[in-house]
Amino acid sequence: MTARLIDGKASAARLRARVAAAAGRLAAEHGRAPALAVVLVGDDPASQVYVAGKVKATREAGMISHEHRLPAHTPEAEVVALVARLNADPAVDGILVQLPLPSHIEADRVIAALSPAKDVDGLTTENQGRLAGGRPGLRPCTPAGCVVLARETLGRLQGLRVAVLGRSLLVGRPAALLFLAEDCTVTLAHSRSRDLPALCREADILVAAVGRPGLVRGDWIKPGACVLDVGINRVPAPERGEGKTRLVGDVAFEEAEAVAGAITPVPGGVGPMTIAALLRNTVLAACAREGWAPPADLETEPAA
Ligand code: NAP
Repeated sequence: MTARLIDGKASAARLRARVAAAAGRLAAEHGRAPALAVVLVGDDPASQVYVAGKVKATREAGMISHEHRLPAHTPEAEVVALVARLNADPAVDGILVQLPLPSHIEADRVIAALSPAKDVDGLTTENQGRLAGGRPGLRPCTPAGCVVLARETLGRLQGLRVAVLGRSLLVGRPAALLFLAEDCTVTLAHSRSRDLPALCREADILVAAVGRPGLVRGDWIKPGACVLDVGINRVPAPERGEGKTRLVGDVAFEEAEAVAGAITPVPGGVGPMTIAALLRNTVLAACAREGWAPPADLETEPAA
């Protein structure tokens, strides 16, 4: 068997088109499009690329993008003060602080300064608590993208077994809760879990979010399972020339492809969904703040 390749770029393009249509409708009805402010501190090359992608995608969706680029040595208090100004700015619906922050800045303190209503990454304690409690709120983008891909691949997810590898606040933990909200039966595994291969083999949906290239082997996968590889790892690629690198996921792709029913490639799988989910969150944040009716085709979870 060769797994079906899950085309994250195509799924993301569909979601972005729905977001753009919603943003256009809101602008026509209410006189302004939703607006996203992005804060980048320092000159980390990967973060520069991510931020440029987010700004471009925001504009392409017909939304307003505000960019705040601060030098690497900016004191933490100044970053927190900027977040406070953006919280109070009625022209801003969503705020994204690009992580990681320089080491002299405590990311937790900056995240704690975010207004939960504008926290489009779903990282504040308020939004994490809302997710844990099964209440409405802004959901973290990457795991929300995973759920969209799983739904598009498998249809209704109710009753399916899900294994999530990795328990970070950004990905693994919210992924587990989002699949629980879909009425899946969820196992959340981490570096101290015993017998990961056996845990994984029970899963109809396997979400790998650990940051270890090729950790998940072919014989960890239940035949026919849907594999969502969140990992983005840069590894040496001498076959491409001296000093060259390439991106790989947390799943040993060729082995997994022979066993799984469907699988996301890296790159081009889960990654593109993250930006699409961010744009969706910005529209939902604008609607919630302004009291506008949220577009039905952007709903993130099934009605209870
Ligand atoms: P993280 O904060 O470093 O968390 C990694 C998690 O994996 C931890 O919970 C850790 O367990 C667990 N883990 C580490 N080694 C393990 C092992 N050998 N067996 C089982 N579990 C193990 O990473 P993250 O932010 O969640 O990111 C994970 C990966 O996703 C990275 O490659 C990152 O680049 C990628 N990512 C991709 C996107 C995207 O848009 N596609 C977005 C965000 C992140 P403990 O808790 O026990 O330490």
